[in-house]
Amino acid sequence: MSKLCSCIVPCFNEEEVIPLYYEEMQKVRKQEEGKIDFEIIFIDDGSKDKTLEVIKKLSEQDECIHYVSFSRNFGKEAAMYAGFEHANGEYVVTMDVDLQDPPHLIPEMIRCIEEEGYDSVATRRVTRKGEPPIRSFFARRFYGLINKISDADIVDGARDFRMMKRDMVNAILSMPEYNRFTKGIFGWVGFKTKWIEFENVERAAGETKWSFWKLFRYALEGIIAFSTVPLTIVSLIGVIVCIIAFLFLLFVVIRATIFGDPVAGWPSLICVISFLSGIQLLGIGVVGMYLSKTYLETKKRPIYIKKESK
Ligand code: UDP
Ligand code: MG
Repeated sequence: MSKLCSCIVPCFNEEEVIPLYYEEMQKVRKQEEGKIDFEIIFIDDGSKDKTLEVIKKLSEQDECIHYVSFSRNFGKEAAMYAGFEHANGEYVVTMDVDLQDPPHLIPEMIRCIEEEGYDSVATRRVTRKGEPPIRSFFARRFYGLINKISDADIVDGARDFRMMKRDMVNAILSMPEYNRFTKGIFGWVGFKTKWIEFENVERAAGETKWSFWKLFRYALEGIIAFSTVPLTIVSLIGVIVCIIAFLFLLFVVIRATIFGDPVAGWPSLICVISFLSGIQLLGIGVVGMYLSKTYLETKKRPIYIKKESK
């Protein structure tokens, strides 16, 4: 009996590329016929264009196509979680619909799992060709930083394009956290992972959904979700400033007893006060970011709200 492979495909305003994606997947399905059955689960992440209609039409023609439609845009992370919940396959693949995650790699991924005994096959792009240089620069810095300050192994250039076995999917589903940073979650759950590399491919049609600001927030989310180092840094700064302040106090007291207390030093006072208030605000800000995440987490809101599915 052939095994089932579920493909989870988040879509947000992607009416143009869905047919192209489907065509590419048909080639893969033909290639694997008799060995692997496929189900494709499109997650309509609150699209405002005809995405859902396009998906519905496909699902009428082809019974291997399923979909989940959200009541509004919940983001790609939520879409992937919904996909994991609805996937039935022994193997599960997450991929973008814009063909930047080339479907023709799927047969190779299956081979790595079946013949080489890996639990998961992940992909990374070795180039960032076609991406704005500023974006690449900050992306590189982000990966350098997060790997230093968190236990989750997050690889530079890693895509969310990944095939995993059922055990790993169940492990991911056992992490129902609200602030989801899936790249970190993949690394955190462990399992034996093979990395395959490919050249960056540009989007087949449509536009990217990520602005610089959105990516910046995503990066912050990743750091807060997978590291408490910022809190440690703030505490350290606090300790250092306390030591300096204490030495300064000794100096002031000794100077006052020896030389008396002439009224002067207003500029230095202002400098010290503004410096310290800056540090305090920074510290409160960092603590606040963690607190806000905890706040959202304790509300236990659902990760997504489903409007319809098939
Ligand atoms: N996506 C989504 N919800 C969002 C933003 C994006 O489901 O809020 C999907 C999108 O449809 C695509 C994938 O996530 O399949 C990656 O998005 P995009 O291609 O815009 O990102 P990029 O490849 O530019 O990083
Ligand atoms: Mg893309």
